[in-house]
Amino acid sequence: MSDLSTQLIHHPYTPPEGFEATAPGVHKASTVIFPNVAAMHDRDWKRREAYTYGLHGTPTTFTLEARIATLEGGQHCLLAPSGLSAVSLVDMAFLKTGDELLIPDNAYGPGKTFAEGELADWGISLQFYDAMKPSDLAAKLNRKTRLVWLEAPGSVTLEFPDIPALVAVVKAHNANAAQAHPLRVVTALDNTWGAGLAFNAFELGADVAVQALTKYPSGGGDVLMGSVVTRDVTLHDTIQLCHMRLGLSVSGNDSELVLRGLGSMALRYAAQDAAARALATWLQSQPQIAAVLHPALPDSPGHAAWKRDCKGAACLFSAVFKPELTQQQINHFCDSLKLFKIGYSWAGPMSLCVPYNIQAVRSLPWPHQGGLVRFAVGLEAVADLQADIAQALAAMHYS
Ligand SMILES: *Cc1c(COP(=O)(O)O)cnc(C)c1O
Repeated sequence: MSDLSTQLIHHPYTPPEGFEATAPGVHKASTVIFPNVAAMHDRDWKRREAYTYGLHGTPTTFTLEARIATLEGGQHCLLAPSGLSAVSLVDMAFLKTGDELLIPDNAYGPGKTFAEGELADWGISLQFYDAMKPSDLAAKLNRKTRLVWLEAPGSVTLEFPDIPALVAVVKAHNANAAQAHPLRVVTALDNTWGAGLAFNAFELGADVAVQALTKYPSGGGDVLMGSVVTRDVTLHDTIQLCHMRLGLSVSGNDSELVLRGLGSMALRYAAQDAAARALATWLQSQPQIAAVLHPALPDSPGHAAWKRDCKGAACLFSAVFKPELTQQQINHFCDSLKLFKIGYSWAGPMSLCVPYNIQAVRSLPWPHQGGLVRFAVGLEAVADLQADIAQALAAMHYS
């Protein structure tokens, strides 16, 4: 089997007769015309080769689904209008009133707020667990639990969990509960950081792999999209029904942008990984910095699990400033950066930064006192990015 980077470029696609371009075609539709009523009745919207209505897919979205399934090492893929909608789709597909879901305390924030808002209103309870302690997950699993989210590494603070150990805890619970509760607990991994390149979510044991295609697969900072990939057809069918009933769909033009991004994705991932590691390592030695969080750094929480399970790392690292530096000085540092723009998201060509107040978004204790800035490294020259951080560090003392 060839490397994923090769597979994503040489992926099966049937072009129109006599037009074998290197890029797949872009098709757009609400209405799809049937040759007769019998064909209308025969075609099943669930099948990927039968076109029934734009909402249920086009040749372009089916091509993208197939490539994302390959990227994740899964079988089935559904596309959603954003990474967040892919997360909430999984919640809605598996949870009903009276159920409980477990989310890592360090998970992507907006996914937590959907659980605290709508899901709570619908009578679905929630507990946050410490992803760095499989025993904490074991203690919180109970008869009501139906869905456990996993995320590697944690959002912003980048602790790398032992995913196989967390999955083993859920599998042991399922084995014990099988007779009393035929409905097993499903594990869903937010794989945006690994992007299908750093590790295979299914080989580490997850049932469902979700990705914000907004990040690496797009790579341009110009499209929002999410994906939900499974290997198990029963899980896929459950999610597909919910996806159809919610009326989720993505546009042909946005799909084209993601298809285009996939070909260069492995190279971009490797280049941004190397640049982020170089900057993170250098930043550790700067006097203003108390800690640099990046799973490839030996002092970062979960480094051993990252080293065992990953082939690479994404473009993110966070800097914790020394406690004597005020939030005002840290904000001034961000304002002084010229190449790192202030903005959410990551994995595009432009480097970005965001200051975060971790204490405000976590229920578990956070070991650091100083303020934190999350950096997302783009594709600029590393020496320019380092010089930019150096001048902004110098400027923060005069704020
Ligand atoms: C960005 C992100 C999302 C959400 O993606 P959007 O397309 O911005 O909605 C979900 N999870 C993680 C880990 C992310 O980084």
